[in-house]
Amino acid sequence: MDLSIIVPSFNEDESLPELVAWIGRVMSQTQWTYEIVIVDDGSRDNTMNVIEKLQGTDSHVKAISFRRNYGKSAALNVGFAAAEGNVVITMDADLQDSPDEIPELMDMILNQGYDMVSGWKKVRHDPLNKTLPSKLFNAVTRKISGIHLHDFNCGLKAYKRDVVKSIEVYGEMHRYIPLLAKEAGFVKIGEKVVTHYERKFGVSKFGIERTIKGFLDLLSVTFMTKFGKRPMHLFGALGTLMFFIGFIASIWLGAKKIWFVYHSLSAPLITSSPYFYLALTCMILGTQLFLTGFIAELVTRNAPERNTYQIARKLGFKE
Ligand code: UDP
Ligand code: MG
Repeated sequence: MDLSIIVPSFNEDESLPELVAWIGRVMSQTQWTYEIVIVDDGSRDNTMNVIEKLQGTDSHVKAISFRRNYGKSAALNVGFAAAEGNVVITMDADLQDSPDEIPELMDMILNQGYDMVSGWKKVRHDPLNKTLPSKLFNAVTRKISGIHLHDFNCGLKAYKRDVVKSIEVYGEMHRYIPLLAKEAGFVKIGEKVVTHYERKFGVSKFGIERTIKGFLDLLSVTFMTKFGKRPMHLFGALGTLMFFIGFIASIWLGAKKIWFVYHSLSAPLITSSPYFYLALTCMILGTQLFLTGFIAELVTRNAPERNTYQIARKLGFKE
């Protein structure tokens, strides 16, 4: 199969028929074989019935239905696992992403050598409370990840099959799929300006809390990709540094005390010096950080994925 179109949908029963019809119109202009995998993320509306009807009239439609709402990342993850196509395109269900972009996205993956192409909603039809945090978010993510995309969180993205089979999207990590892909070794990440429409039916499924969650997730992703397999390098280094500062400070205090005593001068109490508290705090924090690193190291060592590496190709092995 040439193409899998993954559509995560949560309470989008009004949009789905139009979306499937639109995809059908676009795909009928091409020779590609394809499937539309609708992942129903525990919808409480009429989605189930709508999908059943669609399936009756269009054999390209496939569906996976969650019993409850797990979130967009979970929906994508399950869609990725099920995808049979050589190219995988994800698309929001709410008609904000345009199926008209499919042929060009396909061309970029198939003929221009991209591992992954992310849509860029250059002209965006969303309220300001969404576009503003998003600008900031994209700038920070760009800086931290070194991936030069304008719009990390665009629902419309295209991938080589290998990419989606190698990454695991969990939690709310769907915003960081380009980072996950890069970490898995897929570095040819491109961008395409895509048409974006206003939401036609229903309401947005993400509130303002997405901004906070988004930044916390960015911290996790950065930490996991940089230090996930070697936490001691972060905590150990910080801890040692802290401890060292505290240690030097206490040596200084001790030496001063001895000097005073030696010269039979009346020495001030060590505890009356601010350096005493600095030294104490630094040494305690340093030890704690070091131990945290040690425990984290023990945890990673026993994690089932400690030796999971992305292997691009094997030669001379039986499958
Ligand atoms: N979505 C989902 N599970 C959720 C939330 C959203 O599958 O828990 C889907 C939703 O149905 C839509 C896509 O993710 O197809 C993007 O959501 P939405 O349009 O609400 O986000 P926005 O465009 O407002 O950023
Ligand atoms: Mg939307």
